[in-house]
Amino acid sequence: MHGHGPGDPDPRLPTSPSGRTPRWVLDEAAGLPVAADPWRAPGPPPRRRRGAGLRGLLAVVLVVAGSLGAAFLTGAVPWPWDRPVVVEPPSALAPDRSATTPAAAPTDRPTPGAGASAFPRGSVPAAPAGGGAHAFSLFQADGVTPVAYDPCRVVHYAVRPDGAPEGGEELVHAAFARIAEVTGLVVVHDGPTDEVPATDREAFQPERYGDRWAPVLVAWQTEADEPDLAGDIVGRGGSVAVSLGEGPRVYVTGTVSLDAEQFPGILDSRDGEATAAGIVLHEVAHLVGLDHVDDESQLLYPETVPGVTDFAAGDLTGLARLGQGPCVPEL
Ligand SMILES: [Zn+2]
Repeated sequence: MHGHGPGDPDPRLPTSPSGRTPRWVLDEAAGLPVAADPWRAPGPPPRRRRGAGLRGLLAVVLVVAGSLGAAFLTGAVPWPWDRPVVVEPPSALAPDRSATTPAAAPTDRPTPGAGASAFPRGSVPAAPAGGGAHAFSLFQADGVTPVAYDPCRVVHYAVRPDGAPEGGEELVHAAFARIAEVTGLVVVHDGPTDEVPATDREAFQPERYGDRWAPVLVAWQTEADEPDLAGDIVGRGGSVAVSLGEGPRVYVTGTVSLDAEQFPGILDSRDGEATAAGIVLHEVAHLVGLDHVDDESQLLYPETVPGVTDFAAGDLTGLARLGQGPCVPEL
């Protein structure tokens, strides 16, 4: 029988010093500085690595949650995920078989344009008229256009069921359905996967997933699996941006990691289902390119806030923008 009074801390949960409802830190970006005014402080455009501007190079950037992504943006840390790949230029001396023989397929990425339609697949909903605080994780070379998923393609996701709490999979599907609704991106569940999440996860895994970018991987992990989930941190989400030569960056896949050890306790707490749903939604918003804001009324605040379990006006404004990225058929 439940006997908690309105002010009683739930004994199954850690008690905050104030005795108030505990807040969970959403991911590793929490506690680090967040631009107070994302409109005026979008950050410098990403610094190009030497050689990254050469035509035919595929540059890969991994963006995870907030501040780590910002560090990657400014080149402050190495980019272990960079995998520049030379694309063979057509030879002027080769016999002209271009009408009948397609160019050799690249081996580091899918056949160009795989799954791409000529037009955006969904329709972007109108953003709230008043706008609101929002921030983006990564920008194009112009420093103002956010990097986004390609709206001419379907965003696929697969769920690793291991370690999921009861009701966990439903939370994931609900979050992806909501993100589709507010971005206009078309999102499809591919089913379960046995892929183990890895920091250096390959964006293209033809043996496992065929000739396409790997689907977004959603996994339940422990602190031992994923040190980023240490302490109060309950999730992380981020995507891999790729670009070809001078072309625009586009997210092609990503990972959402949810804390297998803490979710059962969250789900059991007062308003736990709504809180848990909000956490998954927050991480999926990171996945599609939203960064944290220093505004407690938005879901992209770095900690859970009682009563804030769905997107608010600022979040929705940013997400509508993220549904309007460029179509990049060459990738
Ligand atoms: Zn976050």
